[in-house]
Amino acid sequence: MSALDENIEKAMSYAAPLRASGVLNHIDGETVGAASGRVFETLSPMDLAPLAEVARSGPEDVDRAVQAAKAAFPAWAGTPGAERRRILIRVAEAIEARAEEIALVESLDTGQALRFMSKAAVRGAANFRYFADQAPGAEDGQALRTPTQMNVTSRRPIGPVGVITPWNTPFMLSTWKIAPALASGCTVVHKPAEFSPMTAKLLVEIAESAGLPKGVLNVVNGLGEEAGKALTEHPGIKAIAFVGESRTGSMIMAQGAATLKRVHFELGGKNPVIIFEDADLERAVDAAAFMIYSLNGERCTSSSRLLVQESIYEEVTGRVAEVAERIKVGHPLDPDTVVGPLIHPEHEKKVLSYFETARKEGATIAAGGEKVGSEGCYVRPTLFTGATIDMAISQEEIFGPVLTAIPFSDEEDALRIANDVPYGLAAYLWTRDLDRAMRMTDALEAGMMWVNSENIRHLPTPFGGVKSSGIGRDGGDWSFDFYMETVNVSFPRQGHRIPKLGG
Ligand code: NAD
Repeated sequence: MSALDENIEKAMSYAAPLRASGVLNHIDGETVGAASGRVFETLSPMDLAPLAEVARSGPEDVDRAVQAAKAAFPAWAGTPGAERRRILIRVAEAIEARAEEIALVESLDTGQALRFMSKAAVRGAANFRYFADQAPGAEDGQALRTPTQMNVTSRRPIGPVGVITPWNTPFMLSTWKIAPALASGCTVVHKPAEFSPMTAKLLVEIAESAGLPKGVLNVVNGLGEEAGKALTEHPGIKAIAFVGESRTGSMIMAQGAATLKRVHFELGGKNPVIIFEDADLERAVDAAAFMIYSLNGERCTSSSRLLVQESIYEEVTGRVAEVAERIKVGHPLDPDTVVGPLIHPEHEKKVLSYFETARKEGATIAAGGEKVGSEGCYVRPTLFTGATIDMAISQEEIFGPVLTAIPFSDEEDALRIANDVPYGLAAYLWTRDLDRAMRMTDALEAGMMWVNSENIRHLPTPFGGVKSSGIGRDGGDWSFDFYMETVNVSFPRQGHRIPKLGG
């Protein structure tokens, strides 16, 4: 049996219970369908066959989950940080023990290549470990003294929170939000993306089997405009952590306005990788190709704009085109596959439409630019060259294995082009000139920048975007600041004079 056939067999057997029961909700420790009994189908990106039925929840189901999260909140918030840490470390261990299952089911549901998903499952565990370790100190604050007052700050968990996640690497992304929420003492209602709901159900089951009390993490499946909207409008939910498209972020901000929701948004990107003529070109080309063609290009921090100095433009774009042509497109469970099928025919249609847009706008398709085969959502890794910054292919997030190359003349020109988009999530800079790297990173409009490197995430560092790419930061203590309220208590240090009125 080939490695692919073996993986398919294993993936199908891991997914069998979810397929048999349907991907139901998980509320207060119970697996339940939508109150209405309604379902929708999640499709296999490989052949568009129905993969499983999914609960299509509405406001009634969301309310039930919020009531469970509210009821569980006092006990979980009151659990000592060291105990929360112990439980969350056990969750991390349980994820590690089932990493193969998570990775295979995730690949099946999303079309992401197994070679990347196996790492994503392990990173999910690492997220739990990292945030678990911060739990014991999460409520600590500062002592701020004046001659008359001793001010003492501390933090408390904000209350039940809503977590709304997208379909690209859903397991890893969910843990990124859910782990710090739980570590800080919040309870959670999670609304996974409708295109990839399977591993969210695995996560809550794994967490409860590892000792997470019932009702602390609840999952409600459904469509964004139904279950998602109800969650953002629910008065029992104190904050919404959202990862998804920028325009959905705007909608959520409007929906949450009436109940004054605190929001944390991680949104879209159109991230530049800027290569100067003094760069190590081999490393720069490898990193640029990795950041756009891994994870099917369905990655918020993908390097989707290749900005290359004119003197090396032909050479660099030629080399990237060669890499793109060599990349194996195929079944995501094949260990050799780099690019699997895109998540859903709707998304594939959007990505394919940019090939026509590129032609109309006068860019050149230097690699790819076509669908692969007739079955499933397979798209060839693509490079557009000869683009200018005003084109739609340079401005809009395509969210597929599609790279737009734009030449620049000098530092000022590179900066102008890099910043001339609505987004500001990440930027990648390649130069051996340290002074230039300093000048550029001071002026680039991006929340995260990597110099002479691809995206390497270090959990204590802040993750998030500027402009239309987001509000707020994840990672380190920033995550705790979002899920907790800081309060100040002031004590008199001595009998100071209190103004006497009316005397
Ligand atoms: P999306 O915005 O369509 O959906 C994300 C989630 O929001 C889904 O669960 C969806 O059901 C829900 N939703 C949709 N409408 C809603 C509404 N009105 N109210 C409440 N919830 C609603 O995004 P997507 O297509 O699933 O994901 C791709 C996007 O996510 C890309 O733009 C990508 O850049 C972004 N993303 C950003 C980051 C980051 O860290 N900045 C990470 C991953 C993905």
